[in-house]
Amino acid sequence: MHHVSVIGAGTMGRGIAFSCALADLSVFVQDISEQGLEDCKQYIEKQFQRSIQKGKITEEQAKQLRGNIHYSLSIEEAVANADLVIEAVLEIMDVKVETFKKLDIYAPKHAILATNTSTMSPTEIAAQTNRPDQCIALHFFNPVPKMKLIEVICGLETSEETIAKSFQLGEKMGKESVRINEFPGFAVSRMNCLIGNEAMNMVMEGVGSAEDIDKAMKLGLNHPMGPLELADLVGLDTRLRNMEYLYQTLGEKYRPCPILTKYVKAGHLGKKTGRGFYSYS
Ligand code: NAD
Repeated sequence: MHHVSVIGAGTMGRGIAFSCALADLSVFVQDISEQGLEDCKQYIEKQFQRSIQKGKITEEQAKQLRGNIHYSLSIEEAVANADLVIEAVLEIMDVKVETFKKLDIYAPKHAILATNTSTMSPTEIAAQTNRPDQCIALHFFNPVPKMKLIEVICGLETSEETIAKSFQLGEKMGKESVRINEFPGFAVSRMNCLIGNEAMNMVMEGVGSAEDIDKAMKLGLNHPMGPLELADLVGLDTRLRNMEYLYQTLGEKYRPCPILTKYVKAGHLGKKTGRGFYSYS
């Protein structure tokens, strides 16, 4: 597996693209937004600079790895030579399904088609293609260059070969993979969204401030980040979509906190817009 295409250059796509490039894979990033691609280039350049400063790579290596990354607004061009496509578009089933239909047409017959969905059914997405055995969910975590885990979620028809190749990719990227059978929210989002939503309900009920609830979880349970700062990092729009899907599929305990809905309606989407449960300058 050498040529990886990443569809969607947002919070996750850009992190996945950089991490693939760092693993010496050839990467093609595609987005429908020119601004999205521009922001992605800037993010990737910053990550290269950071890696050089930390002594992880030399200037010379960065120059070579940079040359392995290509950008396009055209999905057809971006996936033409792909061995693996990782889709990281919005967490909306219709958008993912439409994307997979195009991937099935334009990606080479041997290519694996993976979704980075946090919650949704890879079986439902794969059913729109003529290669459900080559479809899988590879759930990366934010920020991708730092986070070690990939959840490998097998759909009903995912072949053992596709699973084995997915684990090989994880190894090449220096990550740890866990195999999870499909169920809404998989392992991590199913638990994490519930914790985050409960923290939001506690802010709404006046149990404590966002700062104090986060501090309690960090110092009391040794979580590296509090649930509210993590929701801000994920993006409150993305988190709301995750909650809505889990509420639909798993029921009442996943009902999105009204504060989350209100913040999204106000355009306060967390770190990416400068305001969420915290303010960012
Ligand atoms: P985001 O909103 O930051 O980025 C989405 C990108 O997709 C945008 O740049 C947008 O322009 C682009 N896009 C939209 N429609 C497109 C299309 N049809 N074709 C190509 N590009 C398109 O979202 P994100 O946070 O990066 O989430 C992407 C996926 O990753 C979602 O499924 C989400 O659930 C999952 N995920 C997110 C996180 C997180 O912490 N944010 C973590 C793990 C998984």
